[in-house]
Amino acid sequence: MKFEDLNLSKSILTAVSEEGYTTPTPIQQQAIPVVLEGRDIVGCAQTGTGKTAAFAIPIIHNLHRLGNSNSRHKVIRALIVTPTRELAIQIGESFDTYGKYTNLRQLTIFGGVSQVPQVDQLKRGVDILIATPGRLLDLHKQGFVDLNHLHVLVLDEADQMLDMGFINDVKKIVKLTPDNRQTLLFSATMPMQIRELAEMFLTDPASVQV
Ligand code: AMP
Repeated sequence: MKFEDLNLSKSILTAVSEEGYTTPTPIQQQAIPVVLEGRDIVGCAQTGTGKTAAFAIPIIHNLHRLGNSNSRHKVIRALIVTPTRELAIQIGESFDTYGKYTNLRQLTIFGGVSQVPQVDQLKRGVDILIATPGRLLDLHKQGFVDLNHLHVLVLDEADQMLDMGFINDVKKIVKLTPDNRQTLLFSATMPMQIRELAEMFLTDPASVQV
């Protein structure tokens, strides 16, 4: 299989091919068509498998296809929640790379740094927000983050968020989003609490495993 077989828009295929990718990895082959369809996913995958592109590429495609939101005020339509600053930065770079020929605007927010530049960007409007749980809830509480128009929520490295004590924050975040959202949950392992989380927050998810 090639990326061309996945019915992705030209602007994304160009960006992907400029990265030198020709063949989607196994998790990308499984996940991309399912995400394009709008279905929920529970994905069991480690870092290094191409997991980030497996959700970033179809999310960019779906948002891009809905038309660019240049003409109206940008609202957060995709949210990626991930446990650490390093992961957040990596995911942000992936969205930048695959989305470079779209005019979707993305922002990465995390704690331990000044919130001022993050708030400035939020005020200007973003389509895609990548965030660690604490800073996200903090900025939401201050009224800078509106999740009422979200289309798709990604819970990345769910087991690591559990290990780091973020499970209640994650539950709070999910409850701030619309019920009819698409939800993608990725985890390297599937302990009981993660399976319960999936049962609570996902609707008829496709199971993706590598
Ligand atoms: P990830 O599992 O998302 O952390 O990705 C691991 C690495 O694989 C990253 O450095 C990506 O740039 C790279 N990668 C992702 N998808 C592909 C692909 N289809 N072909 C070649 N490399 C890829």
